[in-house]
Amino acid sequence: MAVKGTDLVKLMPKRQGCKDCGFPTCFAFAMKLATGGAEVSACVYLSEEVRAQIEELLAPPIRPITIGQGAKALAIGDEEVMYRHEKTFFHQPGIGCLISDTEDAKEQERKIKALKEMQFIWIGRTLKADVAVVQSASGDQGKFSALVKKVVEMGDGIPMVLMADTIDLLLAGLEACGKDKRPLLYAITERNIDEAINKLAGLDVPVAVKADGLEKVSVLTEKLKEAGLQDLVLDPGSRKVWEAVRDQIFIRRAALKQGFKPLGYPTITFPCQMTGDPREELAVAAALLTRYAGIICLSDLREDVLFPLTVLRLNIYTDPRVPMAVEAKVYEINQPTDTSPVLITTNFALTYFSVANEIEGTRVPAYLVIQDTEGLSVLTSWSTGKFSGETAALFIKKTGIEGKTKSRKIVIPGLLARIKGELEDEMPGWEVIVGPREASGISSFLPELAGKC
Ligand code: SF4
Repeated sequence: MAVKGTDLVKLMPKRQGCKDCGFPTCFAFAMKLATGGAEVSACVYLSEEVRAQIEELLAPPIRPITIGQGAKALAIGDEEVMYRHEKTFFHQPGIGCLISDTEDAKEQERKIKALKEMQFIWIGRTLKADVAVVQSASGDQGKFSALVKKVVEMGDGIPMVLMADTIDLLLAGLEACGKDKRPLLYAITERNIDEAINKLAGLDVPVAVKADGLEKVSVLTEKLKEAGLQDLVLDPGSRKVWEAVRDQIFIRRAALKQGFKPLGYPTITFPCQMTGDPREELAVAAALLTRYAGIICLSDLREDVLFPLTVLRLNIYTDPRVPMAVEAKVYEINQPTDTSPVLITTNFALTYFSVANEIEGTRVPAYLVIQDTEGLSVLTSWSTGKFSGETAALFIKKTGIEGKTKSRKIVIPGLLARIKGELEDEMPGWEVIVGPREASGISSFLPELAGKC
């Protein structure tokens, strides 16, 4: 629940004519604070107690947590809405692969390699898994530390979850990994919480909290917070799919709608512990992905599981307020020469990749002019005036394409045959050709056109 400026006003020092924070009144400062336009520290007249109270009120309803470090660090939490269409989801869940110290070395190395290398290019994005969940199943400190070291050496900086039954094992894993790598320690439970507070407080690494049920999880997070451990990730212990989905929804709702701080943290989930069948595991992972999981741990990385899951994730975590767009410029495909034809379309990512892939498939050298239409598709950009004969001509001239090819043939999308006359008027000397209505038509259209160029 977003804090209201009027709630903050009540806490302000109200010093007449002060303005030391840069705002004309305490009221104006409070209003800015509530919308994120000012820092609490700008008012030096707040007592420590009130400052802490304001910081608590301003804290995001779901705490942001970072696992790992550097370019591959995984950021989860810090979400603001129940439903994507209300705004957007900000941090996509990390997809993890379980690697156990009881697996043989070859199997461990195969999984680490898959975490590093298995990837898919989709609409210009690279889709892959994000986190190694390193498990001490043997309970043997030496084996666990050796596996953690192996992941560090082979994993190319991939973030880690260290998973063990005892705090001492977790500390051994942390030492093997290095505290600076910020692994997530899994898990603090009712059984080990006092030992965890004694040994982990002050280490500044994120920790997961596991209990049977949300009530018990809340008790643990309150206790940890009081002890100064605040970077928490929740596991409510549910291992049946609909109970797990129900818990994820409850946690999100409690944090966002009721402002219930003990559940205001991201979550970790384990489809790998809910079924032994890879297809069922995919279904469970997909259900949890659509319902707020922060980390999704799989038993293995298979292409037929990871690909659909990462595409689903991309679809859900793409900002619906921002159309997916590519850079507006001239793309040279199949090494075009000074006789190659020119095609033009919009910078909606799906349009670009469909058209570019089809051109590439024909092996016909061509220039593809991608006009900035703010990511709108062909017909939408035409209907909003962003793609017309006039705007296309202006952009074509700006690209300098006239200096690259002498062919003077420009192909427009078949859906926009209506702009042909206008473009011809704007570009004397060019032959405007109406291309296919669908990108799939390029495979037969372009070779025929090339024969005439
Ligand atoms: S510095 Fe503090 S007391 Fe002074 S005007 Fe700003 S909010 Fe009010």
